[in-house]
Amino acid sequence: MEPWQQMLRESVHSVDQLVEKFNLDRSIAQQLDRFFQARINPYYLSLIRYPGDPIWRQCVPDRAELEDYDAFEDPLNEDAMSPVPNITHRYPDRVLFLVTSQCGMYCRFCTRKRKVGNSDKISMKGLESAFNYIQSHSEIRDVILSGGDPLMLTDYMLEKILMRLRKIEHVEIIRLGTKMPCVLPQRITPKLCSMLKKYHPLYINTHFNHPWEITPESSRACQMLADAGCPVGNQSVLMKGVNDDPDTIKELMQKLLKIRVKPYYLYMADETKGANHFRTSIRTGIEIMDKLRGHTSGLAIPYFVIDAPGGGGKIPILPEYVLHHDDEKIVLRNYKNDIYVYKDMKDGKETVRKVDVIENNGNNGNGKHEKIEKVTPHHIPELAIIDN
Ligand SMILES: *Cc1c(COP(=O)(O)O)cnc(C)c1O
Ligand code: SF4
Repeated sequence: MEPWQQMLRESVHSVDQLVEKFNLDRSIAQQLDRFFQARINPYYLSLIRYPGDPIWRQCVPDRAELEDYDAFEDPLNEDAMSPVPNITHRYPDRVLFLVTSQCGMYCRFCTRKRKVGNSDKISMKGLESAFNYIQSHSEIRDVILSGGDPLMLTDYMLEKILMRLRKIEHVEIIRLGTKMPCVLPQRITPKLCSMLKKYHPLYINTHFNHPWEITPESSRACQMLADAGCPVGNQSVLMKGVNDDPDTIKELMQKLLKIRVKPYYLYMADETKGANHFRTSIRTGIEIMDKLRGHTSGLAIPYFVIDAPGGGGKIPILPEYVLHHDDEKIVLRNYKNDIYVYKDMKDGKETVRKVDVIENNGNNGNGKHEKIEKVTPHHIPELAIIDN
């Protein structure tokens, strides 16, 4: 048995352990266990600093999960968009391929808790029909392995899947969605990396939500994957009491870049049953994004998205940067809330006009981009007035 597998065996998972370690009332612990089992491996457990901290909230069952009756089991309608078991086909050219039900840690906010941890619901029996589906749909050029966590498979099993996918000519890229670099970085071994290398282009998306998850171990894991030639991206979920403030997100994004991980998505928490207590307002998310763009490296900025309920896919939400737009021009505000006008262009006309000079405030070095006045982002209707 590999060390990471041994660590998994030592996870906190039983009702007795929940009662003893986290002081949960026994009957609540039993109900929570029935609702969505716990699995907290010793590594992730060691990251907890105090009860109720951002790490604790992500992994320790909470009675608030039981108070959330009317949310959805499957908010993203993944099951209805599943043409064959284990596949969700929502977008024209790519599919989600669930290859295991198991994870290195069970996240209390998980959107897929209706299936995760249950090998009847994400079954190995479905693999063959999934391969056949991908094989017979030549429009599929991108396959995203998910679950559960694909790195819960042994290297041998995972390689069988990768090998099989690589035999399908129209599959151009393979992605691996895995939380292991964050929750059980010991899973990233030299042996795994040298196996993965053979199946490029292979992209990895991992899932860090808080700066405390960036440790020497997780840093090493991400850098090993990058050294193996895998571009590593990160998806985070915005969650109350975990990371719902600009400083935390900024620190997380900057620290990810330091370990060679590129922030990819920041999600609004899904309307998943048992996860209502994690949800923040959309405004909180927009304010966080507003405090990233311009204030730190563009590389540190993820797309802020809502995964549309009902299966509409990921839809980006931006702070309001466009204050006014007509046939002639666009009026924009920058990260400091200074306003700039860019003259629009009618396609096909010969003159390319420069950005208009409205009033030179002398602070930009080249005299082209001019400040008009300061605004606060929420005064948009009044701003339309500056256009003459
Ligand atoms: C997120 C997701 C994808 C991938 O989306 P990208 O924007 O390409 O990263 C594909 N299929 C499903 C069902 C998804 O949920
Ligand atoms: S690792 Fe992913 S699939 Fe597994 S419990 Fe966490 S969010 Fe759900």
